[in-house]
Amino acid sequence: MKRSTRSMARSAISRLRERESLSHRGPDAVDAGTSAGMSTRVLIAEDDRAIRELLVHHLEREGYRAIEAADGSTALRMARDGVDLLLLDVGLPGVDGFEIARTLRREGRTMPIVIVTARSEEVDRVVAFELGADDYVTKPFSPREVVARVRAILRRSGMKDDSLKTTRKFGRLEIDEAAREARIDGRDVGLKPREYELLVVLAANAGVALSRDTLLERVWGYDFDGDERTVDVHVRRLRMKLVEQHQLDACLHTVHGFGYKFAPA
Ligand code: CA
Repeated sequence: MKRSTRSMARSAISRLRERESLSHRGPDAVDAGTSAGMSTRVLIAEDDRAIRELLVHHLEREGYRAIEAADGSTALRMARDGVDLLLLDVGLPGVDGFEIARTLRREGRTMPIVIVTARSEEVDRVVAFELGADDYVTKPFSPREVVARVRAILRRSGMKDDSLKTTRKFGRLEIDEAAREARIDGRDVGLKPREYELLVVLAANAGVALSRDTLLERVWGYDFDGDERTVDVHVRRLRMKLVEQHQLDACLHTVHGFGYKFAPA
């Protein structure tokens, strides 16, 4: 079955509505007394210096550690180094914000992303959420509102954010994101790049069923023109390498009529 753009847009809009109701408390719901802690790193990717400095000022005042990037490739590099949240302008020189979000999600990185844009059409909001953004802010914005959203998202994601963690361990299976390697009993399993990325995305969402659409988008990218069987083929290969070749307990579960779930035994 070919991916239906309409169904993707529909699911994006329903997720958007969900998020809007979650964040309905709005900017005035700032909890005074909640200290962010200096260790929380927020990357501000914004080429407009005045806006960047305004955001740095407000975030630092709230106790966040603000780091800055003025162009797309710098932002991508800094985000890969590990940040707790990314405030991402869409119109960046070099690599644009949408492309950065897409790339980071494709690499299995799970840090929250807030898209900041001057555009306000719904289509952009849909694209932003389809690319895996957690929130969306339209310019002109109030810095207080942005800080409130940053705080809400960090609180919601709790300590689940793994962007700084480079190795995840699930029993005998170890996923080393720095080395881009999956190991069983300490030995490299020898996964192909897409197999590895698929495993990273599934493992980053352990216990959560991910649809074939979502997996296509996160691993192959939004523009990928293949069909959902691509996902099935790669899951089959992953199972062969992990379960058959290395006798790992079944961890990649089929969710019938939907997709797949990583759930280690
Ligand atoms: Ca810009």
